[in-house]
Amino acid sequence: MLDCAIIGGGPAGLTAGLYATRGGLKEVVMYEMGMPGGQITQSSEIENYPGVFREDPPLTGMDLMEPWPAQCMHFGMRHEMKEVRQVRRKGEIFEVDLGTESVEAKTVIVCTGSTPRRAGFKGEDEFFGRGVSTCATCDGFFYKDKEVAVLGGGDTALEEALYLANICSKVYVIHRREQFRAAPPTVERAMKNEKIEFILNASIDEAFGDMTGLQGVRIVFNDGREPMTLEVPGLFVFVGNNVNNKVLLQDDGSFLCDVNEQGQVIVDLNMHTSVPGLYAAGDLRIEAAKQVVCAAADGAIAGMQALHHVQEMNS
Ligand code: FAD
Ligand code: NAP
Repeated sequence: MLDCAIIGGGPAGLTAGLYATRGGLKEVVMYEMGMPGGQITQSSEIENYPGVFREDPPLTGMDLMEPWPAQCMHFGMRHEMKEVRQVRRKGEIFEVDLGTESVEAKTVIVCTGSTPRRAGFKGEDEFFGRGVSTCATCDGFFYKDKEVAVLGGGDTALEEALYLANICSKVYVIHRREQFRAAPPTVERAMKNEKIEFILNASIDEAFGDMTGLQGVRIVFNDGREPMTLEVPGLFVFVGNNVNNKVLLQDDGSFLCDVNEQGQVIVDLNMHTSVPGLYAAGDLRIEAAKQVVCAAADGAIAGMQALHHVQEMNS
């Protein structure tokens, strides 16, 4: 039986593995269906992870994550490149379903992250990471004193538009309705911001550019206005997030532990879920800051808590 099964090998899962094994757990396996590193490996430039700043050439997400797995494995963590289908409770322990086999574990740390939704316009995938972004904290600075566009009318879109307005010369908010899903005070603040211009009843028809990246977007209106072109090197898409919580879904449609309305896993400050021995860390938990440094910190806490739990079970 495993002491700890970690699901997901992004910054949260890898750090959980480091702390669990270095703290003394022997049987620790991290199930990561792809290469370890997580979603940050898609980023062409990361400059907000403390202590590793590099200007020329810029540090990529891949550069940042490359040494993490070896460090974990040095302390005994094992990586299996497998997709976890489901985690079930079996008395006081857990059963991790890998499809062809099931593995028992005393503790489970779920670190499966979240996936920003795509809006679905032409060119979105082609220019993703080359002008189209889903992270203003990560990429906003690349557009310092330049004009950018934001797509969406929820809290994330308007809050991130306000954040971008501190960096960029102008922020166009493109939203498909006149009403906003965002909280009224946030809408009011965005409306009052002189750098933010709203383009409402509007959708993006196409993002265009060349080998160097995004050059602009074509906008269509649902109120009969003529289509328009906006020349911007940066477009931030905030049309909601999918939490990767599938592994917690049980056969009867319930979740193994408590989740909120968005499906984010409810944890306390120690990353404990509502089920003893089950932890969640990183982007899939409630109130996640969705930053590498925060996911890593969550993983460290969860790894230490799993260690305590196993020590108590063994005593
Ligand atoms: P993830 O990194 O999402 O890792 C989850 C892992 O779980 C994935 O590798 C996935 O393959 C695996 N997984 C999922 N389901 C299963 C399953 N069933 N079985 C096995 N494995 C599974 N943050 C910053 O701090 N600075 C930045 O500059 C920055 N830039 C970004 C740029 C981009 C383009 C993106 C997409 C994100 C960026 N972020 C940045 C955010 C950062 O990447 C995330 O906050 C962070 O990676 C979250 O870590 P995590 O470990 O919680 O999840
Ligand atoms: P959200 O509330 O689901 O809003 C998504 C926005 O994107 C909506 O305005 C939606 O338009 C638009 N949209 C969806 N699909 C689209 C598409 N294909 N093309 C164009 N536009 C599209 O998502 P969110 O803003 O990420 O927020 C998620 C949750 O977190 C919410 O509950 C939110 O309140 C919460 N949150 C809270 C805070 C805070 O409290 N400070 C901050 C951030 C997030 P429609 O409105 O027309 O559907």
